[in-house]
Amino acid sequence: MTSCECCHTQFRWGEILKANFLHGFSKCRNCSCAHKIDFPSKLKVTLLSVVPFLVFGLFLTPFESTIFTLLIGLLIFLSGMVLTPFVANYKMTSK
Ligand SMILES: [Zn+2]
Ligand SMILES: [Zn+2]
Repeated sequence: MTSCECCHTQFRWGEILKANFLHGFSKCRNCSCAHKIDFPSKLKVTLLSVVPFLVFGLFLTPFESTIFTLLIGLLIFLSGMVLTPFVANYKMTSK
């Protein structure tokens, strides 16, 4: 799991998850330095969450019901999303 670049406090899973979900910014809770998700991690987050969702929703669609497909798709998206804190790297922003 990614940690603060200056004080090495490890970010919490929930903090990174929230940041991955929203804007890709996280603050160290110890020294409050701002960190931003790096570009490769953005790709990884997309690959883990959005891509499986799209593949499922657009190509597999094993169910007749659109609502059901959407629900399962959402579940796939969320289960990918909970893994993203383990692969995402956060870098300190320069100022
Ligand atoms: Zn820190
Ligand atoms: Zn700091």
